Amino acid sequence: MEKARTIESMRKLRAEVARGLRLGFVPTMGALHEGHLSLIRTARAECDVVVVSIFVNPTQFGPNEDFASYPRSEEDDLAHAREAGADYCFLPSVEEMYPPGAASTVSVGELGAILEGADRPGHFDGVATVVAKLFNIVQPHRAYFGHKDAQQIAVVKQMVRDLYFDVDIVVGTTVRESDGLAMSSRNVYLSAEERARATSLHDALRAGAEAARSDGIDIAEKVMWELLVDRGVEPSYARAVDPETFRDPDPSGPILLVIAARVGTTRLIDNLLA
Ligand code: AMP
Repeated sequence: MEKARTIESMRKLRAEVARGLRLGFVPTMGALHEGHLSLIRTARAECDVVVVSIFVNPTQFGPNEDFASYPRSEEDDLAHAREAGADYCFLPSVEEMYPPGAASTVSVGELGAILEGADRPGHFDGVATVVAKLFNIVQPHRAYFGHKDAQQIAVVKQMVRDLYFDVDIVVGTTVRESDGLAMSSRNVYLSAEERARATSLHDALRAGAEAARSDGIDIAEKVMWELLVDRGVEPSYARAVDPETFRDPDPSGPILLVIAARVGTTRLIDNLLA
């Protein structure tokens, strides 16, 4: 696996990839786990060349969030990415991605300002901006994202549509621990006691899905909220939404249940199609 730390070297690698080969791209913030590796393996199976990026993007963190303490494990990540089938790894510095004077940003409007966007102001502008930069540097044919971050996928798809990026967005299913907890780089923050309580998010989603089917979405939201509170987890939101707009769902259409909640000081998100 080849590494590139500068945009120039990544572009050189990209240019060396012969025309006609299909390039798959898996953007990550590192601290790779099975969720990331499943995306890399899918890209490997579907594409001729696989590029993984590892970049902890400062602009998607709020001022009181965990940018400084976000887990970083470059050596292990490189070994795991290689084993999962990556051909190239792009590891830019913050200065490389945001040189002095960089001022342009991407904003996807209302979709980026609700739910996760309301709780984390500026988060999705940071995501859309860095994904736009990465797409322009790597120029993938297909880019792989996990359903775990469902609103992020909707934001990226909106940006791709609105700005005519020539890339297919491929969605991988959420990889979970055996007790249902969605894998996340942030799970390492949890104490043993918090780790046990963190399964409440998935339990609430499953209970919510059952309630949505039998009693409707208002009851589903109540069931999720109450289960989280009962288990000592502090919900930010527990909602039933349209999977594309993240607005109120059409009762006859698909319903996505989305939760953000704090377990101790760790903020976790998860979702499930009802
Ligand atoms: P991150 O490093 O957290 O920015 O995530 C990089 C990519 O991996 C994103 O597309 C995430 O949605 C995806 N991802 C994170 N956790 C999981 C998971 N448990 N299952 C599947 N994909 C995931």
